[in-house]
Amino acid sequence: MDHATTSTPALELRGLTKRYDDGFLALEDFDLTVPAGEFFGLLGPNGAGKTTLISAVCNLIRTTGGEIRIFGHDHRNADARRLIGLAEQDINLDRFLDVEETLLYHGGYYGMEPARARRRAKEMMEIFDLSGKAKTRAPKLSGGMRRRLLIARALMHEPPLLILDEPTAGVDFELRIDLWQYIRRLHGEGTTVLLTTHYLEEAEELCAEIALIRGGQLLARDSADGLRSHYGVETLADVYVKAMAAAA
Ligand code: ATP
Repeated sequence: MDHATTSTPALELRGLTKRYDDGFLALEDFDLTVPAGEFFGLLGPNGAGKTTLISAVCNLIRTTGGEIRIFGHDHRNADARRLIGLAEQDINLDRFLDVEETLLYHGGYYGMEPARARRRAKEMMEIFDLSGKAKTRAPKLSGGMRRRLLIARALMHEPPLLILDEPTAGVDFELRIDLWQYIRRLHGEGTTVLLTTHYLEEAEELCAEIALIRGGQLLARDSADGLRSHYGVETLADVYVKAMAAAA
C-alpha cells in the first residue's frame, strides 16, 4: 500500500495525555493530525513535551489517556510500530557494531529477509555516504557520520513515517545542509516526516506545517506563513516569542 497517497492520516492523536509516575503532567489532552505525505515540524522550548509525544507515539512509554493512530492502526500494535522509523535525539548506536552490522541487525529486528536487508543496507549506505565506512564501528565514526547512520538505521525497514527528534542538534552548518537534502529527498519520495527542532530556520526551510507546543499543550498549528499572519509578525522567530510569551 502506498501510505503517502491514502487519505488516512499518518498520525492522529486524540486527547493524548501523559502523566509520569512522579505525577508530572507532560502532555495534556493533546490533539494533532499529521496528514500522510506531510513534512511536519514540532517546535517548543526544552521540556515542552516533544520527546514525550514521540515516545508515546512509538509506544516507548505508557500513555495515561487518549488515543494514537498510525496510518489508522492503534499505536500499540506491532503493525503500527513497523510503519515508523525513529531517529532519537540521543545517538544510541551499539559501539560494538560496524555500520553495516548496525543496519543489518535493525533489518533482522524488523523481520527483513537477509538478502533484502543486505540490499537495503547497501542502498542506505550509498544514500547516506557511508559505503566507505561499512566496516567501521560507531565509536570511530565522526559525529556527522553517526547522525547519518542513525537516520539510515531508522529507514532500514522502509517506514512510511519517519520521526526525527532533533536530527541536527550540535551538527555543523555543512552537515545540516546535507541532512536537509537527504531528508527532503526522502520526503519527495513519499515519506511522511515528523521533525522536532530548536532551529527555527530549519522548521521554516523544511516543514509545510508547524505545531507550537509549550507545557504539554498545543498552542498553534499552521504553515510558517499562516503562523506569521495569525500572530501579525514578520518572522517565525517573532511568532515563537509571541506564542510562548502568551502561553507562559
Ligand atoms: P527538549 O527540547 O529539552 O528535548 P522536550 O520538549 O522533548 O524537551 P520532554 O523530554 O518531552 O520535553 O519533557 C517534557 C517534560 O516531562 C519535562 O518537564 C521533563 O522533565 C518531564 N519528564 C520527561 N521524562 C520524565 C520522566 N521519566 N519522569 C518524570 N518527568 C519526566
